[in-house]
Amino acid sequence: MKRICPKCGAGYELTEVKTTVRDKDSLECNFCNETLIKWNGASFWVIKEVIKKPDKSK
Ligand SMILES: [Zn+2]
Repeated sequence: MKRICPKCGAGYELTEVKTTVRDKDSLECNFCNETLIKWNGASFWVIKEVIKKPDKSK
């Protein structure tokens, strides 16, 4: 799934990974640490690809 950082505008392609162990329950932006996605349960999300760099207009 695609996810756009609400803070800096970076775009990510995320992929879901099934697991039997609960680990992290949120994923943060690589550039500004804004939370991109939160979840519960026996799967988690990882950044597959950065598809858009942050907007640097400001
Ligand atoms: Zn960001």
